[in-house]
Amino acid sequence: MRVFFGGSFDPVHRGHVEVANSLRDLGARVILLISVNPPFRSAAKASTEHRMAMLRLALDINDVNNVNNTDQDIRIERGDSVCDSPFTVDVLRKVRACLGDKAPLAWALGSDQFAHLNTWRDWHRLAEFAHLIVFPRRGQRANTQMEVRQGMDARRATIDRLFKQPAGCVAHMENIPPQVSSTEIRQRLQCGKSVSGSLPNSVIEYIHAQGLYGVA
Ligand code: ATP
Repeated sequence: MRVFFGGSFDPVHRGHVEVANSLRDLGARVILLISVNPPFRSAAKASTEHRMAMLRLALDINDVNNVNNTDQDIRIERGDSVCDSPFTVDVLRKVRACLGDKAPLAWALGSDQFAHLNTWRDWHRLAEFAHLIVFPRRGQRANTQMEVRQGMDARRATIDRLFKQPAGCVAHMENIPPQVSSTEIRQRLQCGKSVSGSLPNSVIEYIHAQGLYGVA
């Protein structure tokens, strides 16, 4: 099964790495999709190139020429090189058209995003093209919107089932990634506070070397 995991990754942190690794460990081929012009939120603070470089470091994908090697279990793609539109439904529609009707395809997201899935463009149509894999987000305050539960609860399935059919199921994962967020990391960096433990050391070194997020 191919699983797309989209985000700003501004910067990538241990929560993201854990999601990607656990999907890979399940036997999925994971594609981290960097949003270039994210809908509904302000532009990323670091350039797409910097965010891509940090992802490569965090996931230990060293060979720059190999980033798009389709044989890798984890790879990184720029959102705009996959689809002109930044909306998930358009990305999945396009990927589905390339993959054909039968191949299992999923979109991974945190429970904070799933909670207000009904604000996503054409959210009802997501399951037509792919499964959803939801990771619990520790410290999340918002409850899942009633409309989302009504639309998605009947689709609940175990992760095994997702590998056996092309689309239409929602799996809720049990393993909880660490409580860390890119916003908090950026704020701490700007105030000169330590972010050690929240993201890989190689990424922290990169941030300091490039002077990202207001570090001196
Ligand atoms: P920000 O704080 O800037 O909103 P973020 O930490 O949420 O950033 P994103 O790049 O926006 O990071 O997240 C990409 C995806 O990863 C989203 O689906 C989000 O829900 C999920 N995610 C991010 N951090 C975690 C975490 N600690 N646990 C579970 N899911 C996470």
